[in-house]
Amino acid sequence: MQHFASDNYAGICPEALAALIEANNSGHEPSYGDDSWTQQVCDRIRDLFQTDCEVFFVFNGTAANSLALASLCQSYHSVICHELAHIETDECGGPEFFSGGSKLLTATGENGKLTPDAIEAIVTRRADIHYPKPKVVTLTQSTEVGTVYSVEEIRAIAAIAKRRHLKVHMDGARFANAVAALDVHPSEITWRAGVDVLCFGGTKNGLPVGEAVVFFDQALAADFAYRLKQAGQLASKMRFISAPWLGLLDNDVWLRNARHGNAMAQLMARRLAAIPEVKVLFTPQANAVFAELPPRVAAALRERGWKFYQFIGSGGCRLMCAWDTKQETVEQFTDEIRALCARQ
Ligand SMILES: *Cc1c(COP(=O)(O)O)cnc(C)c1O
Repeated sequence: MQHFASDNYAGICPEALAALIEANNSGHEPSYGDDSWTQQVCDRIRDLFQTDCEVFFVFNGTAANSLALASLCQSYHSVICHELAHIETDECGGPEFFSGGSKLLTATGENGKLTPDAIEAIVTRRADIHYPKPKVVTLTQSTEVGTVYSVEEIRAIAAIAKRRHLKVHMDGARFANAVAALDVHPSEITWRAGVDVLCFGGTKNGLPVGEAVVFFDQALAADFAYRLKQAGQLASKMRFISAPWLGLLDNDVWLRNARHGNAMAQLMARRLAAIPEVKVLFTPQANAVFAELPPRVAAALRERGWKFYQFIGSGGCRLMCAWDTKQETVEQFTDEIRALCARQ
């Protein structure tokens, strides 16, 4: 059975699994990232972004975000984020812990997005020594509510960040879905738009495990390897985290996976919008649909075994599509909702 709780419910995509097996069949290799697979994937990521960036691999997104932010901040600094940001709501204080105390300053914003004005308001609120000095602005792309920052929106935020001497971090747990949705080159929504560090999500896109931390500003990566090691994020058999990336990067499988998830979300949204009792809450642009279902319908769906979250975002049910979500699953799910709604 397939579910809509999270794209991390899905398994490993065949291409990533094949690369993992190939790496396993290739004999002994140096450990801790000095292997040929890791070197090759780092080069491929540099090629992908068309720039000479520093690339690191970690086990999960919480580590990627927390350690990347920690490398941008001193303990007395602060990080500006949206109030729904994963770093604020779902990382158990990881960014604060690994930075030794950097405070997250949250802003509200429609559609899960920060705006230049919201950032400006936080930066100019205070200028005294008693306030944690803003040092980073972080964007989630695609956002926690399934929307996407446009190239112009990122550029505008990076411009204000530059004016206010803030670094720009991007939580790209679903970066692929954003690139697919915008149909832009990945550089256009990262370093060419002013992003300094990207946490490039692999897990939700079809990897078994692992995210890449990509420093476009290479100076910021100084000592990052030590930070990873200290945090328990330096894999000794690193090739088994890195090699599966080859499966995603070859033939743009990462984009194919993302486009598929996005298309399934579009299908879900279209079918839900046609049910009068259901309200789609945001305009879905990536692979998530948020919808208000009558409570008895949501309860009945759960009773039938469907899994989906209700606590993420700003209310409603979050229905997340993955790289392998089947059209028939979306059709069956939405047919059941329609039938349940019609029942008095
Ligand atoms: C899934 C996710 C992460 C990473 O979460 P982990 O469970 O730590 O891998 C980070 N940011 C966002 C927006 C996510 O959805």
